[in-house]
Amino acid sequence: FSFLVATAQAGDEYMKYKDPTQPISKRIRDLMKRMNLDEKIGQMVQIDRQVATAEVVRDYKIGSVLSGGGSVPRLQATPQEWFNMVNDIQNGSLSTRLGIPMIYGIDAVHGHNNVYNATIFPHNVGLGATRDPDLVKRIGSATALEVRATGINYVFAPCIAVCRDPRWGRCYESYSEDPNIVREMTDIINGLQGEIPKGSPNGAPYVGGKDKVVACAKHFVGDGGTTKGINENNTVIDRHGLLSIHMPGYNAAVAKGVGTVMASYSSWNGLKMHANRELVTDFLKGILRFRGFVISDWQALDRMTYPVHANYTYSVLTGIQAGLDMIMVPYNYTEFIDTLTGLVNNNFIPMSRIDDAVRRILRVKFTLGLFENPMADESFVDQLGHQAHRDLAREAVRKSLVLLKNGGNAAEPMLPLPKNSPKILVSGSHADNLGNQCGGWTINWQGGDGNNLTAGTTILKGISEAVDPSTEIVYQENPDFNYVKSNNFSYGIVVVGEPPYAETSGDNLNLTIPLQGQYTVQNVCANIKCVVVLISGRPLVMMPHLEQVGALVAAWLPGSEGQGVADVLFGDYGFSGKLPRTWFKTVEQLPMNVGDPNYDPLYPFGFGLTTQPLNHSS
Ligand code: BGC
Repeated sequence: FSFLVATAQAGDEYMKYKDPTQPISKRIRDLMKRMNLDEKIGQMVQIDRQVATAEVVRDYKIGSVLSGGGSVPRLQATPQEWFNMVNDIQNGSLSTRLGIPMIYGIDAVHGHNNVYNATIFPHNVGLGATRDPDLVKRIGSATALEVRATGINYVFAPCIAVCRDPRWGRCYESYSEDPNIVREMTDIINGLQGEIPKGSPNGAPYVGGKDKVVACAKHFVGDGGTTKGINENNTVIDRHGLLSIHMPGYNAAVAKGVGTVMASYSSWNGLKMHANRELVTDFLKGILRFRGFVISDWQALDRMTYPVHANYTYSVLTGIQAGLDMIMVPYNYTEFIDTLTGLVNNNFIPMSRIDDAVRRILRVKFTLGLFENPMADESFVDQLGHQAHRDLAREAVRKSLVLLKNGGNAAEPMLPLPKNSPKILVSGSHADNLGNQCGGWTINWQGGDGNNLTAGTTILKGISEAVDPSTEIVYQENPDFNYVKSNNFSYGIVVVGEPPYAETSGDNLNLTIPLQGQYTVQNVCANIKCVVVLISGRPLVMMPHLEQVGALVAAWLPGSEGQGVADVLFGDYGFSGKLPRTWFKTVEQLPMNVGDPNYDPLYPFGFGLTTQPLNHSS
């Protein structure tokens, strides 16, 4: 017990805040009394691990460190290397006067996706198609274990955006256009953090143990409602609409004890959310009684004015006064610290506001057990990419697939496919490409191309494993018309879709399948019976030759376990997924969501054909 040892050595003082037998409220009060302004402001700062040496963290009393975007230590870093890095930084924090441990955050948004060899789960849009909150909760538990394997204890997930316009580059991070589905999927918090005990105080953060992590509901609020889906832009909607469509997920997340909430870059009716005191302080902290901390988005204070950084002092003042508690700075920490210190010393920001922020940050840290267990240990190392998690991801892929068209005739539909056809053609840019299959936020912020990105199974490999040994699989990424015509294929499986992207780079006003993909569909489907598997973060405009396509499957961004697609194509499991979004006909219809007066979709929200599993045992 470090608090007793410290007492014995110091001979004079009992460090109540270090005593785990004390209630958290008393520990916070005790620690706050001991802290000076530098130490308090330091707690409010989150810096990127690229600048976070042990010395920097110690000298500036930094409260938190993150691996932002693609800020990974080394592309193929092992779990040991990750937690050694985290522990090195933590040693800096522990050597400060009060020894307040830092908390380390990372974007684990579909599994522990920055880390080589981690299990990559389907992106949220695919999970929305499963309509299975229990599955999503189990994914949360598995993700927490994989994150702990690298010594990290805080994730910037879940994204509970309600994407109302698929032209938005982050639409795949949204479970659905429907607020009810988003609200149900906040059960992932029960998996990440553990299930909050009944009778817990309203809005109190909760973390269930060493195998759990702090979650972050983001981006507060209305990020998925911007005009034309332009990223970080303006959401024009009345208060009733904001509360009915974009807020229900936050009500649920707070009730589940979510530790943190991230503010959105976007604005609501012209006011930046990072400056919105009414929603951050009065509504989230007041009416919803959220007692964890609110974190800014990456460099969001710099982006509060335009041109970027035009009026930084104003931005810091407005952001802190709006109710932001921790600021993702992430590089210019001296400037931020100096600016905030000046604002406090000149009475622009009252000490009570700083105290509120620090109290919230300490509350999350105490709840997490960080003072008792600041150092990462090796006990979870073997959880990274664990087979049980890969099996879970494969189950999620199976349940996420939405069957949009199943040609042939009622007696003999095209799917499921027999396992014993003599010769199958597999083609398309996404058939044998793990990077394309995983999408953005995978190892790199923008995602990556190819099969050496991380460990996993491509859809092609999954198909090869699913069929009978007698079946010949021919893989041609982009076969030409005559080739397909002149080779006796039983049928073709074409896997095409969007290339990986993240955030603004994914904003897209056209939403078409890249041309090469369209050619491949045409060359195959004009000649032989074909199944098209679409890999995309959102519905896309269907090609004019949809009639030629025998069967059409929306597979979203399935992640590392491509066998899940083959499991269902070949009938080991049935199709069960339902559209989490409206499948529009043309982009001119957008935005178009279920319930709209002129609703005229190609496939409506909730659509999804089903198939029965086949018995392949004979
Ligand atoms: C994104 C957040 C993310 C943060 C840290 C920002 O660009 O908007 O969703 O958590 O970066 O990587």
